[in-house]
Amino acid sequence: MNLVVVVLMFLQRTIREKAIVEGVGLHTGQPAKLTFCPAPEGTGIYFVRRDMPGSPAIATQADRVTATTMATTLGGDAFSVATVEHCLSTLAALRIDNLFIELDGPEIPIGDGSASPFLEAILKAGLAEQSQPRKYAYITQPIMQGDQEKHAYVSPYNGLRITCTIEFPHPRIGHQTLDIEINEQTFAREISRARTFGFLKDVEALRAKGLARGGSLANAVVLDHTEVLNPEGLRWENEFVRHKVLDALGDLVTLGMPLMGHVVLHRAGHDLMNRLVRKILESPDRYRHIELGADLPIDPPYLQS
Ligand SMILES: [Zn+2]
Repeated sequence: MNLVVVVLMFLQRTIREKAIVEGVGLHTGQPAKLTFCPAPEGTGIYFVRRDMPGSPAIATQADRVTATTMATTLGGDAFSVATVEHCLSTLAALRIDNLFIELDGPEIPIGDGSASPFLEAILKAGLAEQSQPRKYAYITQPIMQGDQEKHAYVSPYNGLRITCTIEFPHPRIGHQTLDIEINEQTFAREISRARTFGFLKDVEALRAKGLARGGSLANAVVLDHTEVLNPEGLRWENEFVRHKVLDALGDLVTLGMPLMGHVVLHRAGHDLMNRLVRKILESPDRYRHIELGADLPIDPPYLQS
């Protein structure tokens, strides 16, 4: 009998040509412009502040996360880049490894509060396959973070799957769960259009702290005590948990390499995601670097005795 072995090989990716996204920054309220630029293989993903002398660049790594209030901020010595998660989530779903993301200010344009503007811009520019294989962090033993109330963990899985649960004491949100295998198709169809959300009662407090100055019903779902205030309503009844998956996927990019595992989240936010990613990086005995095709075991290690 002849066995036909199909070797799956995922190569590194960048984009074919530059792509621009323009809008306002959610927290600064200032105009913001972002340009995705192709990068050579082995580069990784960098944000570049083109408005600053010397155009300083910052890597998307967990140890560069300097703030997690409402959004994830990456920081350098004298500069920062805020609200990176929706943009990074898109890159994770499209399997983009190498990219320079040029900015003309401290924040990413918020668009409509979802990942749609980034997805559209990148798909229009086109994806470019490179010659080196992707290297994954393949989880071999569970890694946990958090406590009974809020936790995040990742366990072995041949793919990337996110199971997310949220609980908000609000009649339009309540308890929502989503369990989804992440790939380009599921991201585009089920996740990318889910918008960020906030509560009217928090808006004044956020603005007093200098946050959410650019926030409006055009770029966030806003809720009062009982209702959604946006006249167009929700895109899905569980748009909230879909957006949390979008955020989590973006925060996982700070691992610095694509993750292969099942990520389970219970009431997780940006801070917990950052702590999970740091813990993964601090647990080299619980994951290994693999290339799909060359190294991926047929039987996941957790099924072996
Ligand atoms: Zn978000």
